[in-house]
Amino acid sequence: MAEETGLEDRIPRNFITDIIDDDLKSGRHSCVATRFPPEPNGYLHIGHAKSICLNFGLARDYKGTCNLRYDDTNPEKEDMEYINSIENDVKWLGFTWTKICHSSDYFDRLYNYALELIDKGLAYVDELSQDEIREYRGTLTTPGKDSPYRNRSVSENKELFLKMKNGEFEEGKACLRAKIDMASPFICMRDPVIYRVRFAEHALTKDKWCIYPMYDFTHCISDAIEGITHSICTLEFQDNRRLYDWVLEHISIDTRPHQYEMSRLNLEYSITSKRKLNLLVREGIVDGWDDPRLTTISGLRRRGYTPASIREFCRRIGVTKQDNVVEMGALESCIRDDLNRHAPRAMAVLHPLKLIIDNFGEEGVTTDSFDVPNHPEDESKGTRKVTISREIYIDSADFREEANKQYKRLKLNAEVRLRNSYIIKAVSCEKDENGNVILVHAEAVPNSIGTNVEGHKPKGVIHWVDANNCFKAKVNLYDNLFLVPNPGAAEDFLSTVNRDSLKVIDDARLEMSLRNARLGDSFQFEREGYFCVDSKHYVENAPEFNLTVFLRETKKISV
Ligand code: ATP
Ligand code: MG
Repeated sequence: MAEETGLEDRIPRNFITDIIDDDLKSGRHSCVATRFPPEPNGYLHIGHAKSICLNFGLARDYKGTCNLRYDDTNPEKEDMEYINSIENDVKWLGFTWTKICHSSDYFDRLYNYALELIDKGLAYVDELSQDEIREYRGTLTTPGKDSPYRNRSVSENKELFLKMKNGEFEEGKACLRAKIDMASPFICMRDPVIYRVRFAEHALTKDKWCIYPMYDFTHCISDAIEGITHSICTLEFQDNRRLYDWVLEHISIDTRPHQYEMSRLNLEYSITSKRKLNLLVREGIVDGWDDPRLTTISGLRRRGYTPASIREFCRRIGVTKQDNVVEMGALESCIRDDLNRHAPRAMAVLHPLKLIIDNFGEEGVTTDSFDVPNHPEDESKGTRKVTISREIYIDSADFREEANKQYKRLKLNAEVRLRNSYIIKAVSCEKDENGNVILVHAEAVPNSIGTNVEGHKPKGVIHWVDANNCFKAKVNLYDNLFLVPNPGAAEDFLSTVNRDSLKVIDDARLEMSLRNARLGDSFQFEREGYFCVDSKHYVENAPEFNLTVFLRETKKISV
């Protein structure tokens, strides 16, 4: 992974860069112009990151342009909150746009192009109901039927379209359709609807329009108006390319963008559909669009993912035409690699068990503070002071009264090293009435800080914090939000939600240096994983931490 920004990395060669190279060589294009066209009806997710890295990355690599275009033709679903989040997320990922555009900027021109199609006898106002239109459309195996309104005269169509525009038709009572071929093997070519009536206020054009153009009509024309050379979308739009080309061929516009399709990113155990994400948020199943269990860009950010790790993920998955499902582990290993290199180390005990060093203060066991490196391989990260006293906390999972030889942690009458500190031997323990261990007594090996001592072979290393110099903090652990690898395919995807995917630990004990952790800081909690300061519930000097990823892929939360 590239240091710090990663932006200097070129996109690895793929079929789209091959096409661009050919286009530049043959002179078909002299520069590259792309766009990223989200519909502002939700927050961006990891699938969008793939498209962002590709479109903005191509503009960067070929010194071209990339517009951020809001595909805002569905007035009901759009919202300023989404617009703001989209800009924020694109910038956070490390990209800047050449300009911001909106499909709605072109509503006047789109209307005139629709009139042009009517004039050419290539569009008509249909008054079939939506159900009838569906019925007349036919199926994959049977051709469609012509609408009885298909052969209206140009002048009649013009008059009716004007009526649509003037609000003289109720919603669903009339629409404008392109006149192409009701028997086409491609259903999208069977006289697709290109304008419909919607009495809804639009975020930008307010109540100027009560007719709105459809995606297939809008997208190609917007691309042409902006001089886009390579218009990249996902594979499910492959058939629609015919319509894309048909529209541009039949209107008077000089530029000819081309559409190319790549596979969608599908990630195991996650949802990448804004509609479904919206449902999770609305139903209160998650804590907003930035819930750390969501693979939205804002969720990943709150989870502690860095922009570089997400760009690296997109680089590793590549750009192809083969649909596939990527394992969650592939995303996790990108952030693990990044944080392994950059995150300072610290000690945090998630399930505290008190341990008393009975001989603390006796000869050879008097050192109560020492400097430890913040990063094992990066001296530039400096050192910090860590203290120890007679009472410490260890993790309850690191102690057993008895265990076999494979157990590399603390057991009675055996030795382990306290990370960065003494070797200790457990000598006894106390239990509550339920038989749970509540206190361990141990003895430290004199003069054993940071060195081997003859005759002592600690079995392993465990982490700990000074009970007299630590603070209590909330730590959030996460598991996959879904119980099945492909929740998007489930009939009722809400029933596949893992209701135990969040585990809140209220009484973790953290070393004192973590108290100063700031927003945006990430740490490796030694032997546990990578954790970041939660941004939503941030209180100065009382940070709450979110699990980014465990150190090992196989580790899961135990609820
Ligand atoms: P959603 O179902 O989440 O609304 P969408 O494709 O309708 O998905 P848009 O906002 O229209 O979302 O997408 C903006 C751009 O991002 C489009 O060019 C789209 O192809 C791309 N995109 C969206 N999801 C993915 C994905 N999973 N993988 C790759 N590209 C994607
Ligand atoms: Mg969409």
